[in-house]
Amino acid sequence: MIGTGILKGMAVTARNFVGSYFDKERLITVQYPEERDPLPENYRNFPFLVYDGDDPNAGLRCVACKICEKECPPQCIYIVKSEDKKPDYIGKPQFYAKVFDIDISVCMSCQICVEVCPFEAIKMDKEFELSRRERFDALLMRKDDLAKSNDYYRRISPTDAAEVDAKLTAAAEAAAKKKAAAPAAAKPATPATSSTSGRPAPSGASS
Ligand code: SF4
Ligand code: SF4
Repeated sequence: MIGTGILKGMAVTARNFVGSYFDKERLITVQYPEERDPLPENYRNFPFLVYDGDDPNAGLRCVACKICEKECPPQCIYIVKSEDKKPDYIGKPQFYAKVFDIDISVCMSCQICVEVCPFEAIKMDKEFELSRRERFDALLMRKDDLAKSNDYYRRISPTDAAEVDAKLTAAAEAAAKKKAAAPAAAKPATPATSSTSGRPAPSGASS
């Protein structure tokens, strides 16, 4: 019958409206900003840069490889790579981002930058109260604005952060083992032949 769907919908609305006075589960609005519903763990808005330890400059994981800059569909990431290097989380010298900007007025929260980063250096944030009076500079997030600690990441995305921590710890342990094994492996080879080049073993702990 024509209109049955509308009547059913009205009945659901009426049941929830009246029910919300008696059953808190049916009350789906909160008095924002005083009250806030917890955000789902997979909620995301704009990216941030993760750093380890207490110092954002020393601990930033980003090595300025620029993959995210290339892959970002609306091209809202701008990176300038350093000329010098600093040690990363396993002590390997790496370039770093001298400049790292994200224009969040353009970012569409697609998370592609996160997916393509081989260094677990960029993650999606949950900060949504970012309204500004101006459209341009105020919405351009600089490296200092984007840098947030791994502890912060653990707080906002505990499941993902635990997986990343486990992965990076395993990579660091594998790199340490490889480093420890390298001199032992090199010693017996020396007297037999002179074919070793003396180059340090390539570190595969980058992802
Ligand atoms: S892909 Fe990751 S490491 Fe490379 S520039 Fe982007 S954030 Fe930095
Ligand atoms: S979330 Fe998407 S649009 Fe935003 S910076 Fe990352 S890749 Fe670009």
